[in-house]
Amino acid sequence: MEHVITLKGFFEEARAGRLTGIRCGECGELAIPPKEFCPACAKRAWAPVPLSGEGVVASYTVIRVPPRGRAGEAPYAVAVVRLTEGVSLLGRVVDIPLESLVIGLPVKFRPIIDGAQTMVGFGPS
Ligand SMILES: [Zn+2]
Repeated sequence: MEHVITLKGFFEEARAGRLTGIRCGECGELAIPPKEFCPACAKRAWAPVPLSGEGVVASYTVIRVPPRGRAGEAPYAVAVVRLTEGVSLLGRVVDIPLESLVIGLPVKFRPIIDGAQTMVGFGPS
């Protein structure tokens, strides 16, 4: 049986507020967002794993010159969040003042919905 969660499926779940990773049935490696092949053993034997969405800020960057179309939104922060399950995920920081952003700050996953687009966000835990 095929239990592959696609990148599209990942964002559909994220839109509903659920963060889903994938675990390699071959070597146990956990990955997020979905990849074609396991970066650890190069197999394609993924099974979906629901994640808590909780983690801590591992690193962050404040975006002051935003990409085209997002000029009104800067400055904002993008953080690499280390989830409690041990995987890291990049997301946009929401509802946390930039001056209180520090490495190790506990955060929680939250979808950012912009029309048909869903982005990964992290807010206060
Ligand atoms: Zn693997």
